[in-house]
Amino acid sequence: MYKSKYLNDVFDGVKKKYANEPEFLQAVEEFFDSMDLLVEKEPGIEKNAILERIVVPERIVSMRVAWVDDKGKIQVNTGYRVQFNSAIGPYKGGMRFDPSVNLSILKFLGFEQTFKNSLTGLPMGGGKGGSDFNPRGKSDAEVMRFCQAFMTELFRYLGPDTDVPAGDLGFGAREVGYMFGMYKKLTNEFTGTFTGKGIPFGGSLGRTEATGSGLLYFASEMLKEFKKDTLKGKRVIISGSGNVGKHAAVKAVALGAKVVAMSDINGFIVDEKGLDVPLIYKLSEAKGEYTAEYLKVYPTAKFNPNPKEMWNTPCDIALPCATQNEIYIDNAKALVANGCYMVVEGANMPTTLEATRYFIENGILFGPGKASNAGGVAVSGLEMSQNAMHLSWTFEEVDKKLEDIMKSIFKKCHETGAKFGQPTNLVLGANIAGFLKVYQAMVAEGVI
Ligand code: NDP
Repeated sequence: MYKSKYLNDVFDGVKKKYANEPEFLQAVEEFFDSMDLLVEKEPGIEKNAILERIVVPERIVSMRVAWVDDKGKIQVNTGYRVQFNSAIGPYKGGMRFDPSVNLSILKFLGFEQTFKNSLTGLPMGGGKGGSDFNPRGKSDAEVMRFCQAFMTELFRYLGPDTDVPAGDLGFGAREVGYMFGMYKKLTNEFTGTFTGKGIPFGGSLGRTEATGSGLLYFASEMLKEFKKDTLKGKRVIISGSGNVGKHAAVKAVALGAKVVAMSDINGFIVDEKGLDVPLIYKLSEAKGEYTAEYLKVYPTAKFNPNPKEMWNTPCDIALPCATQNEIYIDNAKALVANGCYMVVEGANMPTTLEATRYFIENGILFGPGKASNAGGVAVSGLEMSQNAMHLSWTFEEVDKKLEDIMKSIFKKCHETGAKFGQPTNLVLGANIAGFLKVYQAMVAEGVI
């Protein structure tokens, strides 16, 4: 129940209309929590029906993707692109390949992406896409055929000034390459329509590392501002060992922290003396699964087949970097009881609303994903700039720009929270700061 009648009316409508989209409703509710303080101060929001409009994607396309597997059998999946909001720039956001993909998940991701992209300060609107295709266990040839089949329909909706997808869960450099290749062939154009591309065909140095590295730059700013401290010697636990988790671990170690536990979907390994992150990186790059090999080298490390139990590990900082809704209220309580005082989201919405509220109410420093994991899309924005200018920056140049962008995002969130009397509430700061620019653009662009 919000203080504002307008907010209650809009949220009731959203709840009724999208009752079968729980992840989307969760993202909207978290965002509306922050809007309660703003809508009365800004009557233009209600007058221009901004919230009614901002919760509805500008366009959703969904398509049949038929392809032939290695045994010659015809397979059918569904592909989607949710073009959420283009008020401040072309649609921009990743593609997810996972059997769980549905419109509720893609709409929550596209909704959050709109505010995340706004926070970066770069001219990018919000979008998200993907398919219920499961790349696990598929051959490269199968993944290629699927990507090509998907693109033969999707290409109509993309373009460097229209919609620029990138990677996400289950969608890495290999998938970007196959989809970009088919896009190029169908349009007869070599443009920066995908980001996260390989370096030989227009990718940016530093993009692969950007989300994980950016997360740690953001975490450093939180520690510096709120605790006058650094990452040195801090015990960190990380869920997910994919693109985000792995690079977060590498950066955490580079900044002096000790990674004591890491998980993937099969379980987690823990070693209070600190994990050998370069070895994990090497093993997972080579084989994907790293646990068995790692335990051979470090027999004192422990393996637990239930990834959720990792949240019981004593630590200073938790970085959820796997997927949505990983930290429930019981996990949040266990983290706090075991000494964790800072949670920074590398994944999108990995913390349930109840757990988020618990962290904030209990004074835990909390970095919301739409701010703290914005480093990936920020460097995607830099990749678009390099493509448009036909040049490439060095890794060091990109990394420095990333660090500056993450510092500036933190500052925006902190200062906006402070304006509303809650300087440590970065959820509030991120939602309001991300929203204001989109709101102003929507008013200026009229009712469209
Ligand atoms: P990847 O597919 O590269 O990695 C996901 C990792 O999470 C894998 O190690 C996977 O394990 C693991 N995992 C999946 N489900 C669970 C679970 N329930 N418990 C524990 N581990 C799990 O994805 P990304 O790293 O790219 O993305 C991770 C998250 O970060 C997503 O929420 C994504 O939206 C978000 N994000 C990603 C960005 C990017 O640049 N890639 C940018 C911003 C946000 P396994 O390999 O065993 O399946």
